Amino acid sequence: MTIKTRFAPSPTGHLHVGNIRTALHNWMFAKKEGGTFLLRLDDTDAERSKEEYVEAIRADLAWLGLTADEEQRQSARFDRYEEQLEKLKAAGRVYPAYETAQELDLKRKIQLGRGKPPIYDRAAMDLTAEQISAFEAEGRKPHWRFQLDHATPITWTDRIRGDQHFDPALLSDPVIRREDGSWLYMLPSAIDDIDMGITHVVRGEDHVANTAVQIQMFHALGAEPPEFAHEALLVGTEGKLSKRLGSLGVSSFREKHIEPQAIVALLARIGTSDPVEPVTEVEPLIATFDFARFGRAPARFDEEELAQLNQKIVHLLEYQDVKSRLPDGMDAAAWDVIRPNLHDMHDVDQWWQVVTGPVSVPDMPAEDREFLAIAHKTLEELEASDDLWKDLTGALKEATGRKGKPLFMPLRQALTGLDHGPDMNALLPLIGKEAALARLATASA
Ligand code: GLU
Repeated sequence: MTIKTRFAPSPTGHLHVGNIRTALHNWMFAKKEGGTFLLRLDDTDAERSKEEYVEAIRADLAWLGLTADEEQRQSARFDRYEEQLEKLKAAGRVYPAYETAQELDLKRKIQLGRGKPPIYDRAAMDLTAEQISAFEAEGRKPHWRFQLDHATPITWTDRIRGDQHFDPALLSDPVIRREDGSWLYMLPSAIDDIDMGITHVVRGEDHVANTAVQIQMFHALGAEPPEFAHEALLVGTEGKLSKRLGSLGVSSFREKHIEPQAIVALLARIGTSDPVEPVTEVEPLIATFDFARFGRAPARFDEEELAQLNQKIVHLLEYQDVKSRLPDGMDAAAWDVIRPNLHDMHDVDQWWQVVTGPVSVPDMPAEDREFLAIAHKTLEELEASDDLWKDLTGALKEATGRKGKPLFMPLRQALTGLDHGPDMNALLPLIGKEAALARLATASA
């Protein structure tokens, strides 16, 4: 069997970190099994679905490296949903209902007031032909409900949650189509999963009750349900579902100079029994992907952890990986000297500026200026060498008797304008002898 997963966002907004995690897991599982990953745009809501979001979803997935093998849109399939609805009508598995939203609300309130669960009472199933004609004469249009089979308990073995059991009598017959003819999510999704050969539905545990209903839809449509894996939800550091997570997406990660590899490495592992590790390639993450390692407790998403992981990943990036994003003239040798100092890729420009200059040197005490004048002279006289820094500091130590910090710090400050930074031994050759002499001259003046 060829594995096929799908990621099914509604293009009514941007992807947030929770969606991204679901997309990633679907993609990873498909990759691990040599299967196919489908991007299905759930755009049945014509009013709220926007083309700009469709494009943003594609762009975000591409930036993360989660390219889809296939793309489908629900808005192109309305005829198919209609056709399947007709089959369900013929089989007596759907029925029209005429209650208004207010009437339904009132029913629920009464049930709750009596301490009963607010399950739809199926009053519409008892409507006579006359009552229906009367509603139609009033201009009322029906919405449609799927009739659950109360005689057949719903069970499945969830790849993450284990054995699941639902009593259909404790669920409301779901509305599948509204009065205005628009579709609710439930039935089109099941039809698509069947038609598109989806073998595994991987999604958040907020969909568990939907799965119970959809399993009966699969059977009513004459198909075996796919396998399901419902993952625990993502929570913020405060341990709650936070609004903040709902607004954190690729654009905010990019603004914070987070690499896609960091997001992938973190979201692949949080909520699982495997540790979060700084890896620049996705293959080792795919190799260890296993639903059995997913926990039932919510996965905690910590922005601080992401920033730290990002830094570690930046330190592992090879010149080839980042070449196109480096300032003009910055070569592999310069990258190797600079990268251990980076918090994120945004810092590159700052360090490259230290190499190319100009640097602004703090005011130095007179004795350091004297020392730097000697340094200038010493450097001027030094022969070209691979160990310019060692030769310079060695000669200066001998000439001035300085050692340790008083020897190194004024030099670093004069040459870089900073108190900290890359290993001077590696940095000085990048700055070059000419520029170094000019900086020492300025600082000692
Ligand atoms: N469009 C649905 C959602 O975003 C899809 C859920 C599913 O994966 O079936 O919640």
